Amino acid sequence: MQIALWSGKHLSMAGREVLVTAVPRAIPAYCMSTFLIPISLAEEIQRMINSLWWGCNRGEGRGIKWLSWDRLAVRKEFGGMGFRHFFGFSLAMLAKQGWKLASDPDAIISRVFKARYYPQGVFLEASFGHIQTMWRSIQASQVDSNGRESAFEIRGCQRDIDEVFKIPICKELGEDHVIWKLSKDDCFSVKSAYYFYLMESVFESSHLKVAGRWKDLWKLQVPNKVKVFIWRAVRGCLPTRLRLQTKGVVCTGICPLCLNNLENEWHCLVACPSNLVCWKLAGFWNVIRVQVDSADSFDDLIFRLLARISKAKISQVVMLMWVLWWRSNGKVWEDADRSPSVTVRRATNCLTDWGKCHRRRVSMPQRQISPPQWVKPPLVFAKCNLDAAVFGNQRRFGLGMCLRDSLGRFIIAKSVLVEGMLQPVEAEALGYQYVFFNQIVKLWLIV
Ligand SMILES: [Zn+2]
Repeated sequence: MQIALWSGKHLSMAGREVLVTAVPRAIPAYCMSTFLIPISLAEEIQRMINSLWWGCNRGEGRGIKWLSWDRLAVRKEFGGMGFRHFFGFSLAMLAKQGWKLASDPDAIISRVFKARYYPQGVFLEASFGHIQTMWRSIQASQVDSNGRESAFEIRGCQRDIDEVFKIPICKELGEDHVIWKLSKDDCFSVKSAYYFYLMESVFESSHLKVAGRWKDLWKLQVPNKVKVFIWRAVRGCLPTRLRLQTKGVVCTGICPLCLNNLENEWHCLVACPSNLVCWKLAGFWNVIRVQVDSADSFDDLIFRLLARISKAKISQVVMLMWVLWWRSNGKVWEDADRSPSVTVRRATNCLTDWGKCHRRRVSMPQRQISPPQWVKPPLVFAKCNLDAAVFGNQRRFGLGMCLRDSLGRFIIAKSVLVEGMLQPVEAEALGYQYVFFNQIVKLWLIV
């Protein structure tokens, strides 16, 4: 596939996130909603995208995939990245076809399938029978037909249950029908099937979830690359020297800045004496000190900060952490000694620039307001639409008007050019006077 040829080297992880999220949209939805993609193909696609996400070059076998796709496919509020589980998504798409068969038995497609595959029963109880690819695919969406729940449950002795079932039901309620219990309007949606049923119940992922204030992290008003950076650090995916050693990379574990301690997330982003100067210079040390003293790990510190300090402050804090990582990398790869003042200034400038762009984007209209739709007048009425155009240099104005009946049918139209100098609103008012007291209504009556 084309994905294998892509290189994410020149993109930030936030940029790669956009790319990775876009890949499923490139796979034809029609195919996925009609045929079940094989698990092996789904896993191969996931492997390729996982390599792209972590910046690995699969051809040369280099790079570290810090987390499996299953962990990345966990929703963001549970510590994952919310990437798509392809097989599960294909099942959710197919379930929509199954929902149509189950909820609308009178539709032509439902009648055709019923006649062919389950003439004596209903879709949710149909068995394989003849093996036909499309039917087999749609039937795969019957993931848990036995798991359907009754509308109510009665607990007690059998005699009471029998008595309850004898109560006649009001016939005005209509026939029983299938509902989708995971949505408010009882109707099926691919999103609810994928997130709340398949990923929660079928592909059991509770053991992959990581507790924490993830929602607060993803809501921070900072560049996306900074959020992804903090997520990596908290999930233990930041390539500090100690982490690299655990992945089998042969390197020293000593911090490149102070040359005196082992480099892990805590030391690199918080406790390194070289970076302590930056924290104090930025004026944040007093803000985070209490939490630093009481936290027992880096992820604990981040979640404590998210819970206890203001959003504005935490945004500045995580921005500075991102710049401290940039400073450490500068020392390793370019042998650059960036002073604390340069480091703090970069953090401030990055956040200020991003804030300016973001505010401008927010202040821009998010969507075009659609033009008003023409509405038919009530029965026995006619509607006249009128517009005026003022030609100031010629000291004239034009009027155009169109009359239509209650069915929207054209009756008559007229345009006139009038000598004089008026404002557009005044010209339109004059136009309505023309409609009522002059030619057009009379002409209509004649028509
Ligand atoms: Zn250090």
